[in-house]
Amino acid sequence: MSGLIINLATLAAGASRLEATATAEELELPPADWPGGAEASLDLHRTGELVTVRGRIRSAAHLECVRCARWFDLPVAADLLVVADRAGGRGRLEGDLEADGHMKFHDGRQLDLHQEAREALLLELPMAPHCQEDCRGLCARCGADLNEGPCACGG
Ligand SMILES: [Zn+2]
Ligand SMILES: [Zn+2]
Repeated sequence: MSGLIINLATLAAGASRLEATATAEELELPPADWPGGAEASLDLHRTGELVTVRGRIRSAAHLECVRCARWFDLPVAADLLVVADRAGGRGRLEGDLEADGHMKFHDGRQLDLHQEAREALLLELPMAPHCQEDCRGLCARCGADLNEGPCACGG
């Protein structure tokens, strides 16, 4: 399997489990910000053409600390829930259901979860990332990194 694409031709009915990985490119995320890609542990359940995916996706984001401007890696974990049915027959309604985020539609051959995974990861990113909970930041006067001790200016 490449990335987070479930092959519906071989997906058994009932419950199954899937461990998968995806690169930043497959997730359409900037590789510089998500160098390690992502790993997913998924519980799948199939009834006919209806597929429910529940799981957890884990990654690490390369972020710049808003206080000290240092780059660091923040572990990110997000829950994933996707309910997908086969497209066809419901016409416009399908678009509405997809837009509402309630439901996804597949073509009967494969189920691509990259978009859902990307959105779930991005939602977990903090608005103002800190390299550590109590990052002391930079001295407002001399710009020294106060995580490395008090600065010379004493400010
Ligand atoms: Zn910091
Ligand atoms: Zn200073």
